Amino acid sequence: GGTIGILGGGQLGRMLANAGSAMGYRFVALDPTPDCPMGQVSRQITAAYDDEAAARELAAQCDVITYEFENVDAGVAAMLTKEAYVPQGSALLHTTQHRLREKRAIEAAGATVAPYREITSVESLAQAVSELGLPAVFKTATGGYDGKGQWVIRSADEIEEAYATLSKAGTELVLEQFIPFQKEISVIAARSSNGEIKAFPAAENIHVNNILHLSIVPARIEASVAEEAERLAVAIAEGLGAVGLIAVEMFVTEDGRLFVNELAPRPHNSGHYTMEASKTSQFEQHIRAICGLPLGDAGLLTPVVMVNVLGQHVEPTVARLSIRDEAAEDLGVTPKLHLYGKKDAVKGRKMGHVNVLADSTEAALRWIEESGIWNEENKSRKV
Ligand code: ATP
Ligand code: MG
Ligand code: MG
Repeated sequence: GGTIGILGGGQLGRMLANAGSAMGYRFVALDPTPDCPMGQVSRQITAAYDDEAAARELAAQCDVITYEFENVDAGVAAMLTKEAYVPQGSALLHTTQHRLREKRAIEAAGATVAPYREITSVESLAQAVSELGLPAVFKTATGGYDGKGQWVIRSADEIEEAYATLSKAGTELVLEQFIPFQKEISVIAARSSNGEIKAFPAAENIHVNNILHLSIVPARIEASVAEEAERLAVAIAEGLGAVGLIAVEMFVTEDGRLFVNELAPRPHNSGHYTMEASKTSQFEQHIRAICGLPLGDAGLLTPVVMVNVLGQHVEPTVARLSIRDEAAEDLGVTPKLHLYGKKDAVKGRKMGHVNVLADSTEAALRWIEESGIWNEENKSRKV
């Protein structure tokens, strides 16, 4: 037993609380949105993430503190590590909050990242473009998500405008060589406070408009590449001294080389498939890791494809899954719907996901395709 506090009360917090409640823990969310997704299934302190008094109240109410997003205020993180038990510490957050620090740590752990340069002026951007070649991906070092804070530079003509635009954010900047990847994959590893490490199988990720659309497991890559990806994720978890989950996003090139793109020290959207398809879910594994319990078996029970339910998909998804689905029966697929309890189904907002369990990922993909719910028209449809 015991009480676990989570900084952030979005869907990741909600799914952590659901998994941990089944294990006998109580939960408190710290989140500014009243009745946030996690607040609907646990206690909630409604306050800003950087509200030190609220964070102190959370510390007073909880035996263990974790977080469900990586942009935790450094001051709050430092205070919490002094006043509460934060098994993940604040060093991992400090590293993964900043792309340059993150890349150096990934390289130190023995993995490869896309060649990159720190950018401090428009001149240094021009210099980096001439060294790395085009296209190249220009990113803010902090704060980006869903492709925000990025500019793919395709021609030298764009250098000035790209610099003027991204430098407005007032953070440090980085230019990366463009990796012409064949696939994007991710591996989620868990390291417990006593040093045990386990990795979930690699997921193949397909994005639409920079937002995750599908995670396909097993990934359709060579077994040797999948093994190497899992080995790298373990090396990174070890090298960074991670506690809890760490998600490792990677690019796979045509010739099977792996480049690590970025890390997330928390449950990851591409790991939602584990809720029904794995012997242990990523959420249970995170709770086990931060509470010092033995890690669960991360093995796969069944092929699966996870499809995200965005604002524009909610209505057709709920309608489809509320009646008997003969196509699913014929294909031998079992769709499992998860909704996060968010009120406004705004286009592009993550509202839920469906884990499509099947005998093969082909069958799951066929059902997703034939259902027509997530086709291009609905992807761009206004709601
Ligand atoms: P997330 O929502 O995953 O946190 P993010 O905004 O932090 O995304 P990245 O993951 O760094 O951004 O990049 C978003 C996407 O842009 C990647 O998934 C990939 O498709 C593409 N991308 C990023 N960097 C590169 C690169 N160096 N070469 C090729 N494609 C890239
Ligand atoms: Mg990111
Ligand atoms: Mg990413």
